[in-house]
Formats: sequence, C-alpha cells, structure tokens
Amino acid sequence: MTVAKRIDGKAKAAQLAESITQETASLLKEHGIKPGLAVVIIGEDPASQVYVRNKKRTAESCGFHSVQHKVAEDVSQSDVLKLIDALNRDDAIHGILVQLPLPGHLDEQLITQAIEPSKDVDGFHFVNIGKLTAGHTRDAFVPCTPAGCMLMIEDELGSDLSGKNAVVIGRSNIVGKPMASLLLQANATVTVTHSRTKDLPKVVAGADIIVAAVGRPDMVKADWIKPGAVIIDVGINRVEKIIDGETKMGLTGDVDYEDACTVAGAVTPVPGGVGPMTITMLMANTLRAARLSAGLEG
Ligand code: NAD
Repeated sequence: MTVAKRIDGKAKAAQLAESITQETASLLKEHGIKPGLAVVIIGEDPASQVYVRNKKRTAESCGFHSVQHKVAEDVSQSDVLKLIDALNRDDAIHGILVQLPLPGHLDEQLITQAIEPSKDVDGFHFVNIGKLTAGHTRDAFVPCTPAGCMLMIEDELGSDLSGKNAVVIGRSNIVGKPMASLLLQANATVTVTHSRTKDLPKVVAGADIIVAAVGRPDMVKADWIKPGAVIIDVGINRVEKIIDGETKMGLTGDVDYEDACTVAGAVTPVPGGVGPMTITMLMANTLRAARLSAGLEG
C-alpha cells in the first residue's frame, strides 16, 4: 500500500530552470552580462562524460555561455593549475567546475582550492565551506546537491524546521556535511550518521527528515522509517533490474522506494528526484556568480 507523496524533482528542476532562463535573459538585456560556466573534465570516465554533457546542455538551454575543457588523462598538475588560473582571470567566465573524480596522480584538494571562491559554483572552496558552516549561508556558494535537497525539504515542511529531527546518512564533504549544515541553519536537530554508526535503523527511526547519501542500493527499509517522514534519496546506484521481463541495468537509490512509500510522508524517487535538482542548482549558482560579479545582489 502506497501512502507517500512522490516528490517530483524533475518537475521542480524544470520550473526552476525556467525562472533561471528568464533571469538570464534580463541580466543580458539590462546589464549586458551573460553568465559563463566553464567545466573542466580530465580523462575519459564514462559517468563523468554523461554528467558533463548534461551540465553543458542545461547551461546552454538557460542561455549561458558554456565552455568545456576536455583534458587528457595524463595531464600534469601544473597544467591543470594553469588552466584554472586562466579561467579565474577570464571575465566571460563566472563559474568554474572541475568534474570529479580526478585521475589518481592529481591532487584534488590543491585543484579545487585553486578556483577563485567567487567562481566556485560547486561550493568546494574552503572559503565557501567556512561561510556555510558558520551560518553565512546566503553569502556562500552552497554545494549543488544539498542545496537542491534543501529546496525539496522546504517545499514539504517549510523553511523553519524547528522541532524536527533530521538524520543525514553519509558524511562526505560533497553531500553529507554541507547537508547537515543547511539543516542545522534551518533549526532542525541534526544527527549525522556514517559507516561507523552503531544501530543505524534505531537512529533513523527518530527522524522526521531522512537524507540518504551513501551509495548502497535500497539500504533504507520501511521498518527504519517514522510514519510520515520526509525522505530525500541522494544515492545513485547502478543495478540489474527486471524491466518488461528483461534484465537490464538501471538506477536505484539508497532507499527501498516501494517499501519506504508504505510508511513515509514523502519520498524522492531515483531517478527523477535529487539528480535533476543538482544540475539546476549549478545553474542557479552560476547565475548568482554572474550577478555578484556585476555588483548586483546574488
Ligand atoms: P561518499 O562515498 O563520499 O560517502 C558515502 C558516505 O556513506 C560515507 O560518509 C560513509 O561513511 C557512508 N556509509 C557507507 N556505508 C555506510 C553504511 N553501511 N551505513 C551508513 N553510512 C555508510 O559518497 P557521496 O559522494 O556522498 O555520494 C553518496 C551517494 O550519493 C552515491 O551513490 C553518489 O552516487 C550519490 N550522489 C548523487 C548526487 C546527485 O546529484 N543525485 C550527487 C552526489 C552524490
């Protein structure tokens, strides 16, 4: 029996992209500024190629100046840093993103920290992490995935989460930690759990909000969930699925969607939930960077 609402991330992302497109057109008309997004992709990782193609397509459909730098797998660290330096100085570029993961010989931290904080639309620079953690959320570029999750949570529960218990599963720098900061800033009582957490189902059982960012297919089951909880499933897992009687590769989240829907209040599906919102938030951050570069409000 399904009781939960399906949170349609795809529809919300499309709606947001529409307003970004309109704002982009008026920024160009009124101030002569076109938001510019540069994506650097190093090597041939197939999943990264798909992500980068989607980012480019969305940037173009929003009316952005979109640039892609495809760099050979064996590029030297100093050449990557030179490219970032050039993009930092390029006035037509307002947002810079280096697609992760990087080949093993490159220092991810050195490279992400070389991006100007004002162009760091992924929100990975320590300046932006510091602002977010210190509660200066409006000043920070917030990482795109948790920013999108937060908008979907606000849709369900409002912007003030006072009295709500939130459990974040996963403590990565990209999702879990910034997600926890955003929830805390919205007055939720936040518990961050991870691979060393003891009796995870018991911890999750108290949650009004669950954000799962682990990378383990269908891990969160109905009997972990408090009735009526809002569940945001960040996980993207490639698994074999039976589709029309045939075994095919498909995507599934960290939450057993059908099972969870029998207890939860609202759940994001995979695909069609967090993923589309992530790309749209990248566009929102880039538009904001362009506006700030012109002395306009973000
Ligand atoms: P990560 O591997 O960096 O972190 C995973 C976290 O899960 C770690 O903190 C680890 O401690 C925790 N964990 C592992 N096993 C666990 C267990 N048994 N119980 C509790 N916690 C456990 O991953 P990430 O980059 O945060 O990504 C997490 C998932 O979200 C992946 O499936 C990734 O593909 C997906 N993702 C989706 C989007 C999107 O746009 N939809 C964006 C980023 C990541």
